[in-house]
Amino acid sequence: MNKIIEAPFNSYFGVFITLACNFRCAYCVQKITLPHQAAGQYPFVSGKQWVAALNAVASRRKKKNLFSTKKKKIAIIGGEPTLHPDFAYIINNLDNDWRITVTSNFASLFFEGKRGRLDEIKRKKGLRLNGSYHFLEGMSIDKFMENVLKTKKAGITVDTLFIVMHPEHKDQASRYREVLLKAGCEVKFQRFYGYAHGKLYPVAQANYDKNLEQSDGIRNYPAYREGFGQGRHAPVYCKMNNVLFAPNGDVYNCHYKLYTKSEDKFGNLFTDDYINTKSSEYFLCRDYGSCNPCDAEGHQFKRLDGSEFNISQYVEG
Ligand code: SF4
Ligand code: SF4
Repeated sequence: MNKIIEAPFNSYFGVFITLACNFRCAYCVQKITLPHQAAGQYPFVSGKQWVAALNAVASRRKKKNLFSTKKKKIAIIGGEPTLHPDFAYIINNLDNDWRITVTSNFASLFFEGKRGRLDEIKRKKGLRLNGSYHFLEGMSIDKFMENVLKTKKAGITVDTLFIVMHPEHKDQASRYREVLLKAGCEVKFQRFYGYAHGKLYPVAQANYDKNLEQSDGIRNYPAYREGFGQGRHAPVYCKMNNVLFAPNGDVYNCHYKLYTKSEDKFGNLFTDDYINTKSSEYFLCRDYGSCNPCDAEGHQFKRLDGSEFNISQYVEG
């Protein structure tokens, strides 16, 4: 039976198959909006259950023109997704109506050894991996490169590599970028989010390089500091069209809610056949002030007095 998820075709679909990770990055987006509480604990759900449920999601193809159709994009993320025991099974068995992007740190046991477990990945079409290099966790650049090249040699597309542009380690990040370019992938700096030296990043008027850095969509810095500064929980109306699947199948539209295992979910992928993610309407949230930077881009809010604002619309300050 088909599962209907009410959300526009171009909504971001992110599947968090696990929040576990082999690293403990201090700037991890899982932690930075939860400074006073632990991230939610979720069990592993088997690959068979994920595949059966996701392949049942309806309307995953859209007409592009008379002759061709678009396939639905899906991001398989975490945590570190290769830590899920059925990672390869999930990738191999999601059907061809999905276009899959996996984001990995290329540092788990999945990549260990001459070929790692890469031979288990049989799917080559409709799959790409992005990588993030976390030099502050002690992984050498040589090891990271080795794992990227091993993956490419196994016939798997590695598209973009990211390095977090930590404000205290800019020179190192720039040097590592030069090395990573030799892997033949696009290499981008990822904005540093959260606090360093008491300042909330990203900051206004910082002269970010649009060509080298991943865009964050933040133009309204006063609202960013208010809503994403991790200092309070206030009521606001919020409108978002993310569809985020927690490791237990619970469906959210907000990273903060998923990471905290909030009760504000819209249903469960494994048990519900109809889920409305309320992507086009405002809903009341009482956690404004603790929003996660992953939810900044294009984000539309409305205050209780009815005034609307958007994090991506420029406001001086
Ligand atoms: S590798 Fe990624 S998911 Fe893991 S701790 Fe670092 S930022 Fe978080
Ligand atoms: S206001 Fe912030 S915490 Fe609440 S749903 Fe929106 S993004 Fe999430």
